[in-house]
Amino acid sequence: EAALALKSIARNISLKSSLQQMPKVYSALWPAARRFVTGETRQDAIDTARTLAAQGYSTSLECIGENTATEQACQDAMSEFLALSQAIETASLAGSATLSLDLSHIGLSVSRELALENLQRLAQDTRARGISMMLGMEESEKIPAILEVYTQVAEQHQHMGITLQAHLYRTPDDLAMLLRLPGKIRLVKGAFQEPAERAMQRGEELNLRFLALAQKLVEAQHSLWLATHDQQLLQECERRGILSSPHTEVEMLYGVRSDLLKQTKQAGQQTRLYLPYGLEWYLYLCHRLAEYPPNIYRALADCVQP
Ligand code: FAD
Repeated sequence: EAALALKSIARNISLKSSLQQMPKVYSALWPAARRFVTGETRQDAIDTARTLAAQGYSTSLECIGENTATEQACQDAMSEFLALSQAIETASLAGSATLSLDLSHIGLSVSRELALENLQRLAQDTRARGISMMLGMEESEKIPAILEVYTQVAEQHQHMGITLQAHLYRTPDDLAMLLRLPGKIRLVKGAFQEPAERAMQRGEELNLRFLALAQKLVEAQHSLWLATHDQQLLQECERRGILSSPHTEVEMLYGVRSDLLKQTKQAGQQTRLYLPYGLEWYLYLCHRLAEYPPNIYRALADCVQP
């Protein structure tokens, strides 16, 4: 509950300005965030991606941000993503690094038209550089708009994929619709607090749903990024032949269960790490605390360490 409260405060203030005006709070929280983000700059993410590529991991790079409220701020976010695309190419990471983003970071909170225009522009830029893209999935109210924009762009751009949240009751229908497009699917449990009539809680029912969705993708020989740190769930995926599909990769978040990802890679699996960076790390930290409350104790310890 504390993490959820932090998240709602974070949404209602302008993070960059408010936190930077409170340098003591900002620097006290940074040690906790540092576990989960590669740094505040694009170069931090690129450096991490380069190191990981040398170890055989693929990566997804994302400048943290969502719910961008003005057209100007969306253009600033676009400039950052275009610069990231160029930096991935310059660092010779186009084959292993994907550009990942949330649609509300580049326009959806202003208008659907702006989101479409900006996503198309980024899709053209990344395609020219041979870099793949992945859209995150946001709160359920935004999903119809995200799917509408995504399908319009993905019909022309096969290098674009999208995330689906297994916890939502609507997801099997969304998957059936998305299977007609070539774009890869990243499957997650779901990070947002949703009303009970829209989503199930963590537990056996959700795990079975996750497995059924993954199985459907494998049977369709569709590209699947299994994005989870749940060891038992991954073991069950292995037992059901989901991991042995040539189209399956396992993806985890930077700073979460790196031991398990390493073990998965050593077992011969394609593996990927999600690498966030940027000044909006406070909201990202809140997501990580809310989805795994024991992190709150660790964050407190990180913050009070001399
Ligand atoms: P859980 O059952 O939540 O956790 C299983 C185990 O993993 C825990 O017991 C713990 O050991 C470990 N663990 C999980 N989370 C943490 C954590 N924060 N810190 C430390 N240990 C942890 N969600 C969305 O709603 N939209 C997205 O677009 C999205 N993109 C994602 C992209 C990637 C690459 C990943 C890996 C996740 C993404 N998520 C997204 C988050 C996802 O929905 C889950 O909230 C998150 O992955 C935790 O769920 P889990 O599957 O690991 O299982």
